[in-house]
Amino acid sequence: MTNIILLGPPGAGKGTQASRLVEAHGMVQLSTGDMLREAKSSGTEMGNRVADVMARGELVTDEIVIGLIEEKLTGANGGGFIFDGFPRTLAQADALGVLLEKTGKTLDAVIELRVDDAVLVDRIVGRAEQALAAGEPVRADDNAESLKQRLMEYYKKTSPLIGYYYAKGDLKSVDGLGAIDEVAGEISDVLKNL
Ligand code: AMP
Repeated sequence: MTNIILLGPPGAGKGTQASRLVEAHGMVQLSTGDMLREAKSSGTEMGNRVADVMARGELVTDEIVIGLIEEKLTGANGGGFIFDGFPRTLAQADALGVLLEKTGKTLDAVIELRVDDAVLVDRIVGRAEQALAAGEPVRADDNAESLKQRLMEYYKKTSPLIGYYYAKGDLKSVDGLGAIDEVAGEISDVLKNL
């Protein structure tokens, strides 16, 4: 069983690659973004509380997302957990370490998807345009203003995790700019060599 974190800015392809890993290796994707959107659409009290923060592209509180992850860690883990979009702050990273230890689990790798900013903006705008053309709902935070905020949050609060996991010896970086299959291939190679 392999537990990994997918780390990277919004639009880096974390969700896409997580889905591939679920298909290929029977891993279980834990996306705090998906959990929060679900809470929002089912109208729970917490969902209502976080909706505006998410729409603005800001981070919700550590307490909320740590609680969401804690609930899932005792559930089915198949071929291992993929943490997608979590942790996003150093406090979340510390909390994950504690939770894994408490549940007798290990973190096997942190896979950083490296991409450049211009590509991110194009990808996210493209994602919104595709959804529109297909008549699908566009994410409330896939607009220029929120995107700027999401990138800012990433650089201020999440990018320090790259150094944090590098220092722990857990960091593996892959080039996130290639085609989906190429990136998936690189991630598979990382997993094989663990
Ligand atoms: P995502 O789907 O991962 O892009 O997340 C969408 C939004 O949910 C983010 O912009 C944040 O508002 C919120 N969110 C998701 N994961 C976290 C997290 N680990 N910490 C704080 N906020 C989060």
